[in-house]
Amino acid sequence: MSIKEHQLHIYNSLTRQKEKFVPQVDGYVGMYVCGPTVYNNVHLGNCRTFISFDVIYRYLLYLGYKVRYLRNITDVGHLLDDGEDRMSKGARLDNLEPMEVAQKYTLGFHDIMRVFNTLPPSIEPRATGHILEQIEMVQQILDNGYAYVKNGSVYFDTLKFAEQTGEYGKLSGRVIDDLIAESRDNLKNQDEKNHPSDFAIWMKASDEHIMKWNSPWSLGFPGWHLECSAMSTKYLGQHFDIHGGGNDLKFPHHENEIAQNLGACHTHPATYWLHTNMLLMNGKKMSKSDGNTISPDELFSGESIHVSKGYSPMIVRFFMLQSHYRSTNDLTDEALLAAEKGFKRLMEANKTLQQLATNNNATSPLDDKVNEIINAAFEDMDDDFNTPRALAKLFELVTIINSLKEGQLNINDISVSVLEKLKSAFSTIIFDIFGLKDDAESSAGPVDGLMNLIIELRQIARTNKDWPTSDKIRDTLSELNIQIKDGKEGSSWSYK
Ligand code: AMP
Ligand code: ZN
Repeated sequence: MSIKEHQLHIYNSLTRQKEKFVPQVDGYVGMYVCGPTVYNNVHLGNCRTFISFDVIYRYLLYLGYKVRYLRNITDVGHLLDDGEDRMSKGARLDNLEPMEVAQKYTLGFHDIMRVFNTLPPSIEPRATGHILEQIEMVQQILDNGYAYVKNGSVYFDTLKFAEQTGEYGKLSGRVIDDLIAESRDNLKNQDEKNHPSDFAIWMKASDEHIMKWNSPWSLGFPGWHLECSAMSTKYLGQHFDIHGGGNDLKFPHHENEIAQNLGACHTHPATYWLHTNMLLMNGKKMSKSDGNTISPDELFSGESIHVSKGYSPMIVRFFMLQSHYRSTNDLTDEALLAAEKGFKRLMEANKTLQQLATNNNATSPLDDKVNEIINAAFEDMDDDFNTPRALAKLFELVTIINSLKEGQLNINDISVSVLEKLKSAFSTIIFDIFGLKDDAESSAGPVDGLMNLIIELRQIARTNKDWPTSDKIRDTLSELNIQIKDGKEGSSWSYK
């Protein structure tokens, strides 16, 4: 396995600085990203985070790493502020078994990830499939003295942990004394905790609670943060390379995850912590609870008061790439209209580029410039996956491509080898790394390709004066309501 000669640097939220990326094991990367809570449909804000990590995953693959990418499905333990489990609430509202709710929204999530052309993770573990591992971890934390049992629930002892390790609050930058009860289980069982910032790692279930399991402490369920600690440890080991999620997860979720891993295994789970910034809509965070949300389907169909028309998934993906994953990204109709134009221009330029040909074998005046821009685009990606800057470089190339086509630049000003390099780099970045697809081509499906093939076969038959075959092709197409027009530029087809 060979890793491309690149100097990838990543901004690490834990150290608050950009660091050279050095994986634990040469050539291999372990990456864990917190996945969705499957109690209702994902919104575009969630999609932004998963698309950002898809580009990161794709870039690591491009660099030649063998990546084990985990993205979990949270199907238990993520409580609402009133203490009700999100899954139970989903089940109650839809009159379904909690597992039916999880299945329904997991499938919906997969559909939407496919529509956005994101690559599936290598492993997608579910919290409910790893209750034993979570119970084991609670026991380890208890054995190490960082948790206590109260009335069948187990709480992480943040004060003791902070005093002994000095670690609590490092990721989120919070000081233990300032921590008022911000954990999501805060309103429930508050009086059982020794300190307001302690959080439940196992909760005793009330009689009406639907999802519960036997444990040494009670019939209950794991705390929300525990699943990620237990599942990342199981599949990536006690210490792995990258841990990611939206920056709203830094506290309490990721802070508590780190505490649990340290509390159980005495080691930090991940070297690099990556956090995506929030997708806004018209200047405000997109979130379900504030009602400031738009579903992917509403955006694609245009059936929403927030947009004047529908935008295809690839336009939306392109729009997401236009801002860096650590910056906020404001979804507005104007921004989407601009993204639509930019996306089409990029796709058109790629088509033009792939058809350009030069006869020049010598080194030529444009070569250095084109090489420089291509290298700069990759350097942008090496600089903490800076997609907007890399996109800007691609648009510098678009200008050159269009000038070569229109004749403002002479096609013989570029050498064969650099033109080939440009063709390959351009499509590698837009398709393999950015994960875009040409909407025009994908919506035409295979029909265009098949029709071109049939027209070509008919042409061969005619050249060979094989009239029965060419007549059969014409007559059969005519029965299918398709007509072929022969013109100076070649033959084309249309429906009658
Ligand atoms: P949840 O299903 O709420 O656990 O969220 C799944 C992922 O989406 C988490 O990584 C969240 O941080 C992320 N997320 C939620 N809202 C937004 C938003 N408006 N913009 C970007 N990411 C978000
Ligand atoms: Zn998580």
